[in-house]
Amino acid sequence: KAKPQIPHFLILPWLAPGHLIPATDIARLLAEHNASVTILTTPVNAARIKPTIDRFNDASAGDISLVSLYFPATEFGLPEGCENVDMVPSMPLVYNFYNATKLFGQQVARYIHEQAPHVSCIIGGMGYVWAADVARELGVPCFIFHGFGSFALYCCEILHKTKAHEIPDSAAELFNLPGLPFEFKIARKELPMHFQQSKKDKEIAEEMRNYEVTVDGVLVNSFEQLEQGYAGLLQKNSGKKVFTIGPVSLCNTTRLDMEERGNKSTVDSDRCIEWLNSQKSNSVIYVCFGSTGSFAPKQFKELGLGLLASPWPSVWVIKDVEKLPGETLIWLRENFEEKNSSKSLLIKGWAPQIAILSHPSVGGFVTHCGWNSTLESVAAGVPIVAWPLYGEQFLNVKLIVDVLKIGVSVGAGEAMAWRGEKEDIVRVKREDVVRAIEKLMNGEEERRRVAELKEKAKLALEKGGSSFFNLENLIQFVAQTI
Ligand code: UDP
Repeated sequence: KAKPQIPHFLILPWLAPGHLIPATDIARLLAEHNASVTILTTPVNAARIKPTIDRFNDASAGDISLVSLYFPATEFGLPEGCENVDMVPSMPLVYNFYNATKLFGQQVARYIHEQAPHVSCIIGGMGYVWAADVARELGVPCFIFHGFGSFALYCCEILHKTKAHEIPDSAAELFNLPGLPFEFKIARKELPMHFQQSKKDKEIAEEMRNYEVTVDGVLVNSFEQLEQGYAGLLQKNSGKKVFTIGPVSLCNTTRLDMEERGNKSTVDSDRCIEWLNSQKSNSVIYVCFGSTGSFAPKQFKELGLGLLASPWPSVWVIKDVEKLPGETLIWLRENFEEKNSSKSLLIKGWAPQIAILSHPSVGGFVTHCGWNSTLESVAAGVPIVAWPLYGEQFLNVKLIVDVLKIGVSVGAGEAMAWRGEKEDIVRVKREDVVRAIEKLMNGEEERRRVAELKEKAKLALEKGGSSFFNLENLIQFVAQTI
């Protein structure tokens, strides 16, 4: 195959919204820095990001290719077209999904060998444990994109090096996470899946760790001024090259790009913006738990009651509406859609998150602290009410509340019990929700600090900024290997 003059990055985004969305932004940033880029995914996921890619290709000299290959869903007992984690019908089927991605990997390898133009570097998604092998066969570098921030990645790195007996067997027992300049008490159940004890989780964790230790480096959607020192600590402890190149969401500057990210908004964005226009500056609290986060009915209603009891207006985004019991749906309609519609805007389904966060009326974000949401809040200068649910979100909360001091936490400790919660009980009471919102909206320090970080985030991606520099360095590193 003819070797390209400029590096050709093949991006393989992990099949979850929180990965597909930033991976699309990374593709655009690399293309803006004159690299050639292909995103390879499945038909359903390609359809989600195609409008964004088409807009980018039309508006700039960039030429991002989008390739999709068949995904073997039904072969693994998944419904036809189930090609993204957000479509997997139940928790146990997530393991089937993971196995399907392995067969998908074999097709990807065949495609690269037989049909793709010369690839200079693979950017592999978090769960694609086969990506580094494919890169090795091609003799090109492989970078992993976990979707985590530097602090969380560093915590995971030290946990991997912590002898197993130092992490208690009991999921709820608190232990001190070593290697940090401060005390950080955490329980095993608050750690990402890699550190859980079930046999299946352990097997997957081992495969992921093998993948991590064979790649050449790590791409992090973050910027140096945000997680000061942690990218360096990660590099030192993992022995891998670490490139912080974010916040990648800042490449979305047009209204359409801010509204349509991966999924199409289920709300009329004009109505949403009009509603926000009618509110006072910095007065609205935006409530959203990522692409899939939801609660059992009692907790769900308790949160809603907290929002209604709070003096601040809110935009509340809810997912999985069809899974809610009929009486909860009636309650929602009566209390949020018929009454109180000027106090609270309910969005059922996918919200135009960046457009909402960037609106001057929004003064706070109740979030599950998914890393994309966290960074998007920082990039918009919006302080955070931190309500973690799963994954590395508990690590992110430590960064948000205690290190950066740009947020407050809700339900302190209680919220943590939500990991894998099946019981229909209330853990975080409405008073706690009201109190946390009150504390954040009246607090000055968090707002001042996040406003400073917003400016730094913007500068990081501009010419002369750290993320701009790191993107150039990444491309140069790959160019030297061609
Ligand atoms: N998102 C959105 N609208 C929604 C929910 C989520 O645009 O209604 C976007 C959000 O802006 C972010 C991503 O989906 O880019 C969610 O990623 P995050 O890491 O915050 O959470 P995850 O979904 O991975 O738990």
